[in-house]
Amino acid sequence: MKKPAADQQIASKSNVYRTLYDVRGFCSKQELAKKCGISMPTLYQNLNDLMEQGLVCYSGEERSTGGRKAQGLGTVSDARVSVGLSMTEKSVRMVAADLRLQELAYQTVPFDTCTKLRGDPSEIGEILERFLNEFDISRKKLLGVGITIPGIISPDHTRLLLAPTLGLENIPLNKLIHSIPYPTYIDNDGTSSGHAEGFVRRSFRNMAYLSLENGVGGAVLTEGRLYEGNSGRSGEFGHICVEPGGLRCSCGRNGCLEAYCSPLRIEKTFGVDLETFFQGVENHNPEYEALLSDILRHLAIGVNNMHTVLDSDVVLGGFFSEYLQPYLPLLRQYVMAGNPLSSDAGFLQLSAVPHHITALGAALYFIRDFIFSV
Ligand SMILES: [Zn+2]
Repeated sequence: MKKPAADQQIASKSNVYRTLYDVRGFCSKQELAKKCGISMPTLYQNLNDLMEQGLVCYSGEERSTGGRKAQGLGTVSDARVSVGLSMTEKSVRMVAADLRLQELAYQTVPFDTCTKLRGDPSEIGEILERFLNEFDISRKKLLGVGITIPGIISPDHTRLLLAPTLGLENIPLNKLIHSIPYPTYIDNDGTSSGHAEGFVRRSFRNMAYLSLENGVGGAVLTEGRLYEGNSGRSGEFGHICVEPGGLRCSCGRNGCLEAYCSPLRIEKTFGVDLETFFQGVENHNPEYEALLSDILRHLAIGVNNMHTVLDSDVVLGGFFSEYLQPYLPLLRQYVMAGNPLSSDAGFLQLSAVPHHITALGAALYFIRDFIFSV
């Protein structure tokens, strides 16, 4: 059956917008029409609509196409904004991002997540409003607020089933949702970060993302899509056993990757922050060096287990990974020493999103939703 003309028009407009969004670099009208597989008159009609909506504009760039110069086109990055809110044990980290997931504003505010989620989390609404005011984020442009929690979220995203690092279990999230007067979406922190990593890399390679924050988690992406598992709990790499009978983990068991590779271990052992710790390692503090070596060796076991099962890239992210660049060659050596199946450890990489990936991943939900709804 033939589609009605209006539907075809909408389909073309979405096609034009998404195609232009995916273009990196110069794109003329002629090139865009060719990429979209539509005629020039149809393109003009759709471009007019998109420009009227403020979603597409001339990029200001001109290139010669043999005869006269052609003007470049681009999507308007700040036509909308999305906010990501990442909840940790002691703070809430907020980021505002444009449609390209570029950071517009960032702020960390102290917040007792465990107590508030158990009781009354409504203060989060006030914290968010202050953030929006302080950075002059337009409510008109605001698509929504994505929220991440370091724990397992129910499939309908309304309940926190288990959060060992927060010491929480089976907590309804409706009060949190209702304290925010914008569309909200709640997800696991590692999952959100994995989405952000995949989005920024623009790669459809299979990837296991390992989030090294106080809670250690992650996500599995196959050909760009999240592998969720049967109950949405895939990618909980923090609780892979890397040392049977080893250090106590927040989940109550012993020897988990999280117990060895969470930055909390450093804080608990020496009472110093990461900055001080890595400065000490650089100055050859022997106790600090010994702990880092132990962390990297156990991290290598975890990475090998992930790679052995998935045969994918393994990407290290989260705020701990921001300090690991100088130690990546050593970590790869440890990985190779324990991996009989791979000829090099190039599959192990650091995140392409060096800062605030969890909050950015939370913001990404509404950006994606918008791009696919134009
Ligand atoms: Zn555990």
